[in-house]
Amino acid sequence: MKPIIIVHGGAGDIPQNRVQGKLDGMRVAVTIGHEVLERGGSALEAVEAAVVSMELDENFNAGYGSVLNLRGEVEMEASIMCGKNLDVGAVTLIKDFLHPISIAHKVLTDSPHCLLGAEGAKLFALEKGFETVPPESLISENAKAALRKILKDGDYTKTEIGVADEGGVGTVGAVAIDADGHIAVATSTGGMSGKAVGRIGDTPQIGSGTYADDNVGGVSTTGHGETILKFCLAHSIINKMRDGTHADVATRNAVNEMTARLKNTAGAITLSKNGDVGIHFSSNRMSWAYIKDGSIFYGIEPGQVLVHKYSPDCK
Ligand code: ASP
Repeated sequence: MKPIIIVHGGAGDIPQNRVQGKLDGMRVAVTIGHEVLERGGSALEAVEAAVVSMELDENFNAGYGSVLNLRGEVEMEASIMCGKNLDVGAVTLIKDFLHPISIAHKVLTDSPHCLLGAEGAKLFALEKGFETVPPESLISENAKAALRKILKDGDYTKTEIGVADEGGVGTVGAVAIDADGHIAVATSTGGMSGKAVGRIGDTPQIGSGTYADDNVGGVSTTGHGETILKFCLAHSIINKMRDGTHADVATRNAVNEMTARLKNTAGAITLSKNGDVGIHFSSNRMSWAYIKDGSIFYGIEPGQVLVHKYSPDCK
């Protein structure tokens, strides 16, 4: 099997001034994940490495730069899944660690449970040697500005479920297949700007934000969380591929059916078990990238496909 990785940097009303930073961050993340696969690393290692790079990048709503809840705090969530044996690890309501995806990966490998939240997730992370960071160190100026705007507009009924606002979306995700044909998926987010304290979205919920099955493929989603989780978007795409439907068709149809039914938007990246790529979003924009045959393919606008010659310097 020829290894492959695809990443996304979130779907939504991404303002023009965030476009270039997201495209640059996509090329870095996909290159980092690709290098792990080239070195013979596993799909799980590759998706974690790609997501870690985006958790460090302020252009994305994950790790540092995560959006804020109504109380002005970061509360992050992440999930990771292994398509070989359907093992999963997920965390939610993480406030003082830089890399929720790495804690989720530890849940996958070292816990009898699948999803840990809040204080329990913190206790688990500390037990496994993860170091805390001051919660304020995760807050960017952009995230503060986005929350200020929501509070000023005073549209609390909307903000309780979150709104797609400036800097308000930008969950990150990665799907990879390694040389052994194993599939892994990782997704990480700060959620929705102005969300209620304690709100849990789609990202840590297996079947909504993340799904991987070596027999079919892998999917990571982004967009309006309450909508994605009602539709179990990741698993809906996987189900459509079971009869051999192409990843692109399955992704497009599931996202569009979800939007038609629930009147809200999202996007997804998909790999079939054969390495076929699916990318679709009903949101205004979604950043994505993958590497194939020595080129990085990437984009952010509907229908856009940019091509950049791959070199390790891309990161
Ligand atoms: N799906 C995420 C959430 O609702 C937001 C995003 O994808 O940007 O928590």
